[in-house]
Amino acid sequence: MADDLLKFVSIDQKMPEKRTAKERAEDFSEVYARYNVDGAKEQSSRCSQCGVPFCQIHCPLGNNIPDWLRLTAEGRLEEAYEISSATNNMPEICGRICPQDRLCEGNCVIEKDFDSVTIGSVEKFITDNAWDNGWVKPITPRKELDESVGIIGAGPAGLAAAEELRKAGFQVHIYDRHDRAGGLLIYGIPGFKLEKDIVGRRTGRLEQSGITFHLDFEVGGEAGLAELRENHDAILIATGVYRARGLKVPGVGLGNIREALDYLIASNRKGMGDTVPEFENGALDANGKNVVVIGGGDTAMDCVRTAVRQGAKSVKCLYRRDRANMPGSVREVQNAEEEGVEFVWLSGPEAFLGDEKVEAVRAYEMRLGAPDATGRQAPEPVPESSFTLDCDLAVMALGFEPEDLPALFGAPELRVTRWGTVTVNHSTMMTNLEGVFAAGDIVRGASLVVWAIRDGRDAAAQIKQFLRARATVAA
Ligand code: FAD
Ligand code: SF4
Ligand code: SF4
Repeated sequence: MADDLLKFVSIDQKMPEKRTAKERAEDFSEVYARYNVDGAKEQSSRCSQCGVPFCQIHCPLGNNIPDWLRLTAEGRLEEAYEISSATNNMPEICGRICPQDRLCEGNCVIEKDFDSVTIGSVEKFITDNAWDNGWVKPITPRKELDESVGIIGAGPAGLAAAEELRKAGFQVHIYDRHDRAGGLLIYGIPGFKLEKDIVGRRTGRLEQSGITFHLDFEVGGEAGLAELRENHDAILIATGVYRARGLKVPGVGLGNIREALDYLIASNRKGMGDTVPEFENGALDANGKNVVVIGGGDTAMDCVRTAVRQGAKSVKCLYRRDRANMPGSVREVQNAEEEGVEFVWLSGPEAFLGDEKVEAVRAYEMRLGAPDATGRQAPEPVPESSFTLDCDLAVMALGFEPEDLPALFGAPELRVTRWGTVTVNHSTMMTNLEGVFAAGDIVRGASLVVWAIRDGRDAAAQIKQFLRARATVAA
């Protein structure tokens, strides 16, 4: 083993090649290239095969990282794919968009002064390479079962659950109100982080595996929860969180002040070749505009970088805390800066100015005060510190909350928390309604793709157990 591994002392960390900021600003293609076989082998060989692998402990899926790094270093790529896909339904997607600096790589323990193993990039390589070689096949269950499961939401939580249930032989139906499957993987996250054909080949494989997609189907509109319960033996709610958090400041109703997801959906649709009237008429196109994005999370980073690619005149990100306290991934902030985004740290909007449409944002400086209930330092305005930024398009990226699901689903009996997330028994993932389960952002609140996959897998395991127990009682 030692011949192929433990090379972190002699081999430096090397990420896959990154396109220059100038090149990147001209299209929506991904920023990082892919390792070739030798590059992946070399970088995997830096792993020291820890007895207690902290990388694995801090991966929400508990991925068997040391094993697939060893197999890659040894050139056993098909086996590496088998191990990687055993715990993750979309390894190449997580390899691209997990905030590795906070998860696996941030906890890689190779000696201090050496950089971590590039776990995410190797994970992406292993499965992209498997697709290229035809090793990723549709699912063929050993036995077809009669029971059917209805899944509401074709995001990562719903898709991961669907795959696990189909493997067990259940008849799986996914309902989604969008015209494409993928949830935020398709309509939220921009192509420069995750190209759309990567998602499309995943959902295509599920279709080829016998999973039925009912697209353009809004549960609550086309059919309520009760109707779906009549048609299926179990239901999984995986609808994500979509209601944008607002801001109460003067001028917030002016034209050209838009919510982040409207802006990103329009851009993603445009990129996939759809006709988007609000893009064509300029309302959701940043071209030639002074753009101000308000917020500091991953959604804000995606908006500023989209605006750069649309040819904005200037792009500023207004965030009320400082760089060290920003929720967005460090790597994404760095990418945004390279691409010409200006961060206005420690500042918040005071008012939007203009007649009909926004023309400027008046902001004030902020300072970090005493820690609040969450332990984070609460920002507070600095008196008489107002300044003004030119603005023709303001994008609000202040986070998301759940919709009122009991009302939407025509199911007032469905229990939700005071924040509107669906209440589940955390051991069984079942809601207060018999046979109705829930997973992903609609349970946790806005989170990460990797956690949605984890929840989808856990929910599938619980649904299997529930249906088997029911079948045993009936027999
Ligand atoms: P979703 O992906 O939201 O999918 C829910 C699906 O349910 C949607 O397709 C929706 O159309 C459907 N639906 C909702 N209501 C109904 C209904 N009534 N009837 C039928 N269908 C319905 N995470 C990362 O790990 N890395 C990132 O880089 C990252 N970037 C992000 C960027 C943006 C702009 C956003 C908004 C989020 C980002 N996230 C990122 C978070 C991540 O996308 C989510 O945590 C994840 O997608 C949640 O998965 P989900 O399956 O629970 O919900
Ligand atoms: Fe790291 Fe995410 Fe892959 Fe886990 S799924 S190994 S956290 S990149
Ligand atoms: Fe390898 Fe780092 Fe994981 Fe240790 S923590 S097993 S060195 S990737």
